[in-house]
Amino acid sequence: MVYKKYDVIIVGCGLSGVIIAERFSKLQNKKILIIDKRDHIGGNCYDYYDKKTNILMNKYGAHLFHTNDEEVFEYVSNFCTWKKWEHKVLGLIDDKHLPIPANITTVNEIFNLDIKNQKEMDKWLSKNQVKYENITNGEEMAKSRVGEVLYEKIFKHYTYKQWKKYPNELAPEVLARIPVRNSFDDRYFSDKYQILPEKGYTAFFQSILDKHKHNIDVKLNCDYFDIKDKITEEQIVIYTGPIDYYFADKGLPKLEYRSIDFHIERKMNTDFYQPYSVVNYPGKDTPYTRCVEYKHFLKQKSEHTIYVKETTTDTGEPYYPVLNDKNIELYAKYQKMAEEEGKNIHFIGRLASYKYFNMDQAIKNSLNYFKEHFEKQKTIIQGADHIVKIYCSKRKRVWFKNINDCKNFVENPNTYIIFRDKESQQKVLPGVDYVGKDLLNKPCNDIKQAKSMNYTNDIEQAENINYAYDNEFYFYIRGHIRNSFNSKRLKNFVKLLKLHFPNIKFILQTWKNTECKKGESWKTITENNNIISKLTIENYFEDKNITEHCLIIDEESIELVGSTSGKIGIGLCPKQGWKNMWYGIYKGLEYFDIKSSNDIIVSFRYDYFDIQQSSAIDEKKIIQFIKNNLDNENIKFIQYKVPGTDNLYMGKYNKTKELIDKFHFELDNILSMNKSIYHQEYLVNIIAETI
Ligand SMILES: Cc1cc2nc3c(=O)[nH]c(=O)nc-3n(C[C@H](O)[C@H](O)[C@H](O)COP(=O)(O)OP(=O)(O)OC[C@H]3O[C@@H](n4cnc5c(N)ncnc54)[C@H](O)[C@@H]3O)c2cc1C
Repeated sequence: MVYKKYDVIIVGCGLSGVIIAERFSKLQNKKILIIDKRDHIGGNCYDYYDKKTNILMNKYGAHLFHTNDEEVFEYVSNFCTWKKWEHKVLGLIDDKHLPIPANITTVNEIFNLDIKNQKEMDKWLSKNQVKYENITNGEEMAKSRVGEVLYEKIFKHYTYKQWKKYPNELAPEVLARIPVRNSFDDRYFSDKYQILPEKGYTAFFQSILDKHKHNIDVKLNCDYFDIKDKITEEQIVIYTGPIDYYFADKGLPKLEYRSIDFHIERKMNTDFYQPYSVVNYPGKDTPYTRCVEYKHFLKQKSEHTIYVKETTTDTGEPYYPVLNDKNIELYAKYQKMAEEEGKNIHFIGRLASYKYFNMDQAIKNSLNYFKEHFEKQKTIIQGADHIVKIYCSKRKRVWFKNINDCKNFVENPNTYIIFRDKESQQKVLPGVDYVGKDLLNKPCNDIKQAKSMNYTNDIEQAENINYAYDNEFYFYIRGHIRNSFNSKRLKNFVKLLKLHFPNIKFILQTWKNTECKKGESWKTITENNNIISKLTIENYFEDKNITEHCLIIDEESIELVGSTSGKIGIGLCPKQGWKNMWYGIYKGLEYFDIKSSNDIIVSFRYDYFDIQQSSAIDEKKIIQFIKNNLDNENIKFIQYKVPGTDNLYMGKYNKTKELIDKFHFELDNILSMNKSIYHQEYLVNIIAETI
């Protein structure tokens, strides 16, 4: 394996590692290798389908996602669908299943009372809480909060099972925050967002890695200490493993952790083993702390069930740091060594920080760490022109980028940023690269040539663009390629779009052949077919990014709905040809990962500039049309009720999709209601008006 080709090596494919990899890829376009010594991704969040019961379960204990942090919630929502899941836990107390944390129901059942409200519960608590002058240990702290009986039944033995120490052997702070509710609320957490990934955590991790597969590679079954020597000092290393393993050769004692033994049991042809997903066992007679029955989560269906009893141990995988004085002091020594280890090695995550992180905290920590350590501000460049050039003396190329689209500087001895300052003087910043999407890149011999090159030279229609729209929207180019690649016009138009709209995204759908079959269009077709591949398209646009979402359909694989014989209405267009077109449009959109129904889609065809019906509409008019309608609620056509009206229209995703679905699935119906139609395109206006 060649390690040198990566800018960043990340040790650990858990949350901390994968989130920081995603940041490096998305914001800095770096090449990243994530290694993990385990045989799977996801770290401790990893889940899988049990083969015998087909139930999704966690390998390292149930993982419930809960957070109050908006940034974290928004971040995770980018990668998969999450389902609301308000977790509840029962404790087996006096042979009854009672809510944990203790609430009014728990107290009523244990003490045979009839407390009805918060006020009565507060009164009960204050009567039962033990009053101490000075709280000296965990037992006193717990009793001062819940009283003698609840302490004995819920906390004393549970704490011992968890920490191998009774509360009177622990510091007061350890039990200072034990929860007790003065209401009937039986939820385990009270956070704003309580959710589970619809398809599991492993799928969530995979989705992040898939989105960045152009930048991120993963190598499993790979221990960092076996490959450490192959990594150079220039490479950034993010280490998310245990900090004491990293410095094992320094002679310090190991940090203490508690681990868990998972005892898996199955019952075949059984509905459920226990009433809730998690039942805690706070009593001293049961060795395990809790039992998790996975079928409850997300209401999974299976004829069988699987449940896992957990016992906490001293040995095994490191899960919970034992935060006593001795370990805190020891960790401080490791932390000091970490700070002195070198500028390119970073220690993050729960094991390297010797902290218990919930998942949301682990995510927040990685996001913040990235911001603090790897993002630099772009205040140095205050330009007169929003196009900057990056010249690389090693790769002998120039990249043109929109300044609004660039996120951060990175040091690079081979690159130079060339820009115009506010007085329009050309300036060169050596030794830095500016990370962000490319508008264009070209071969270039030296810095002198780079300084003279101009982005707009290539584009006939380019005028001075003072203000670029930062709206994110989708530009859908679809249909047969025909003669559209015979000139530079489409390519230059795409460049122009990127200039005006730095956050534009492209969806491409085309056909395996450049032209449709004879008899499938109302025009005279001379079949002069070339076979189209992804490479053909990339080569034409000179841009690999454009084919990120590109569907090329083999005409032989088309599946149409309803009848295909005859023509549309009383016009010339063969029904089959038009249905093929809608099939293509429908498929191309289906292939694309649209995030919100409010996303705008602009629908356009490859050969737009070659067809006579659109000859009056040039690039500037199209751009103005898009700008005017980016906030529009309804579907808008650049030309209305004229032949070719459907060659260019735009609207919100949900409406555009509805329109396309109608033509793909219900065209026969539409035709039976519009029998006398001559120009088939008018139907698109008619149907759009109904949406
Ligand atoms: C039993 C249990 C239950 C939990 N339940 C919840 C919950 O319900 N809700 C919640 O929010 N959080 C929960 N958590 C916390 C959650 O698991 C963590 O927040 C999260 O896993 C932290 O991610 P991480 O990447 O920092 O660490 P990890 O997930 O531990 O990832 C670190 C990775 O580094 C790898 N690694 C270590 N050393 C090396 C090496 N030398 N070479 C290569 N790879 C290495 C490891 O194999 C591991 O995959 C729970 C944790 C545990 C232990």
